[in-house]
Amino acid sequence: MVTSAFSYHAPTSVAEAASLLAEHGDDAKLLAGGHSLIPLMKLRLAEPGVLIDLGKIEGLSYIREADGGGLAIGAMTTYAELQASELVRSGAPMLADAAGQVADAQVRNMGTIGGSLAHADPAGDLPAVAIALNAELITSSTGDHRTISADDFFVDLLTTALEPNEILNEIRIPALAANSGSAYAKFGNKASHYAIVGVAAVVTLDGEGNCSGASIGVTGAGAKAVRASDAEAALVGSSLDDATIIAAAGSAGNGIEFNDDVHASAEYRAHLTGVYAGRAIRAAIANAG
Ligand SMILES: Cc1cc2nc3c(=O)[nH]c(=O)nc-3n(C[C@H](O)[C@H](O)[C@H](O)COP(=O)(O)OP(=O)(O)OC[C@H]3O[C@@H](n4cnc5c(N)ncnc54)[C@H](O)[C@@H]3O)c2cc1C
Repeated sequence: MVTSAFSYHAPTSVAEAASLLAEHGDDAKLLAGGHSLIPLMKLRLAEPGVLIDLGKIEGLSYIREADGGGLAIGAMTTYAELQASELVRSGAPMLADAAGQVADAQVRNMGTIGGSLAHADPAGDLPAVAIALNAELITSSTGDHRTISADDFFVDLLTTALEPNEILNEIRIPALAANSGSAYAKFGNKASHYAIVGVAAVVTLDGEGNCSGASIGVTGAGAKAVRASDAEAALVGSSLDDATIIAAAGSAGNGIEFNDDVHASAEYRAHLTGVYAGRAIRAAIANAG
């Protein structure tokens, strides 16, 4: 359980980190909280020759109101900080709640939102939340910036739209529309708490209590977190009666090729996706009040 040899760099600015990435290319890995990367290195499933620690860069860990509304969150913000933040609890309560459902206090004190999204673990909690909240991810490389929607960010198993020379800097969460409620519901692994299936839902009500908007992300079920578009379409325009919610939840797994592993069969994951979609949708409606 010893890593292979690597050289360690601790840049003090994003620009310096970006130029180190550009210099070392595929041989380099960024280090954030280390709670996914270091275990992989110890198992020698990742053997970077160069480790670029983002921990010494000031100004990558913050939570603030974004210009024009919503939240701007620095990539090195930890789960514990998200969970405790009054800004997050009021502006994106589902994010604070989901961060509190990650692993245990040790992991939450070290693991970061940027590391979670960039790692794109199929059982990670925050990717589904980022999709449901319509997050935008801001990246930096030498002399360049990009904005990537959460929908486009998760490409495949442990694979994102990040280029090898890009750093994820900031996560922007748009303000929720008026009369919106959100909720994250997961069936977690009893030991690690990773999502066997997790569903994040945002539901918006109009003046009559009908559904005017829905945004739903699913994690754990397949190779990557995805948007449950059929479930959203089933809800929008409805009166959110029981039959509609059951039908919408039942369609949340449409298009997913379900994982089948020691934790759960594909059939069981398909079942859990419907059950947890129903729970998340009902809780989001209740939270919309
Ligand atoms: C025991 C245990 C239980 C866990 N349980 C859960 C759970 O219940 N739910 C859950 O969601 N997760 C869980 N995790 C994973 C945990 O959330 C990790 O912290 C997270 O997946 C990675 O975040 P990190 O900051 O530790 O990133 P690191 O491990 O440092 O990095 C992960 C990857 O992302 C890249 N990276 C990191 N930051 C950036 C950036 N800013 N820009 C570009 N690339 C970047 C790194 O190069 C690396 O490839 C668990 C982990 C452990 C050890």
